[in-house]
This record gives sequence, structure tokens and C-alpha cells, in this order.
Amino acid sequence: MPTYDYKCKDCRHKFEVFHSMSADPITVCPKCGGRVERLLGTGAGVLFKGSGFYETDYRSSGYQKDAKADKSSSAAPKKDKKSASKKNAKKAQ
Ligand SMILES: [Zn+2]
Repeated sequence: MPTYDYKCKDCRHKFEVFHSMSADPITVCPKCGGRVERLLGTGAGVLFKGSGFYETDYRSSGYQKDAKADKSSSAAPKKDKKSASKKNAKKAQ
């Protein structure tokens, strides 16, 4: 039976579920009852790769929007970003 990785969007709880392909996917976090998303695991990843390049054409208008959003969000000077991430890293250690 394949293993599926799920991650809760609310509490970030990560868990693995064994169930058959035909079984209903898990949609609710067992810990907090929040919404979960299925992470691409080993088996499913291959499937998605095959149809991947369709989607780039398909979503081209969406892509452009994303690119624009990226530009505006990265308008902040890179220096700030760097020092901010450094600070975070130090905190984490
Ligand atoms: Zn949760």
C-alpha cells in the first residue's frame, strides 16, 4: 500500500497515512481538525511530472501575475532580507 505524506495547514503537524489509491484522501488533521494538504510523495511525484509541462502553458496568465507579485514583493533591498535571515538563523541556533 502506498504511503502518503500529509501536512496540516493549521498546526503544521506532519503525518504519514497508509491507504489504498482508491481510498478517500485525508482532509482533516487528526491532531487539531484543521485542513491538511497532501505532500507529493514518491509514487505520486512521477505522475505529476508527466503532466507538469502542460500546466506551464495552461497557467501562463497566472504565471505572469505571480511574476509581477514577486517583483513588487522583492522591491525591498536585498540587504535587509539577508540580515533578517541571518538573525533568524542565529535565533534558531
Ligand atoms: Zn493540525
